[in-house]
Amino acid sequence: MTTEVEYWEAIEKRICAKCVDGDGLGECRIGDGRECALRTSFPQIIEAINAAFSSSIEPYEEQLREKVCRVCTHQSGDGSCRLRDDVACALDRYFPMIVEVIEETQLKHRLHMG
Ligand code: SF4
Ligand code: SF4
Repeated sequence: MTTEVEYWEAIEKRICAKCVDGDGLGECRIGDGRECALRTSFPQIIEAINAAFSSSIEPYEEQLREKVCRVCTHQSGDGSCRLRDDVACALDRYFPMIVEVIEETQLKHRLHMG
């Protein structure tokens, strides 16, 4: 199993299962032709998380804005995002938990690799 698949499985189990746009079992029900940025930008999200290391969330958020939001079609030229303001972007909504899940999975992976 590649590490990215492993990370995504952990995300489905811990984030999607709790997401208000999910079915409570890890399946996505976002619908309406919308796509979740957590799914569509997953490699860039991992990159953003790997580019920061801190006990506070701000440096991770800066990386997220730079690597994902900056190129997201929902973000306006002035850096604002209506989905973010409406708490309608699952990626932004659950970002602190997403960082935790990825870092924990990476640690587990490293320990496993010995
Ligand atoms: S909207 Fe995103 S976080 Fe929520 S269930 Fe779907 S893929 Fe997972
Ligand atoms: S917060 Fe907005 S700009 Fe950033 S990923 Fe979500 S929808 Fe895109």
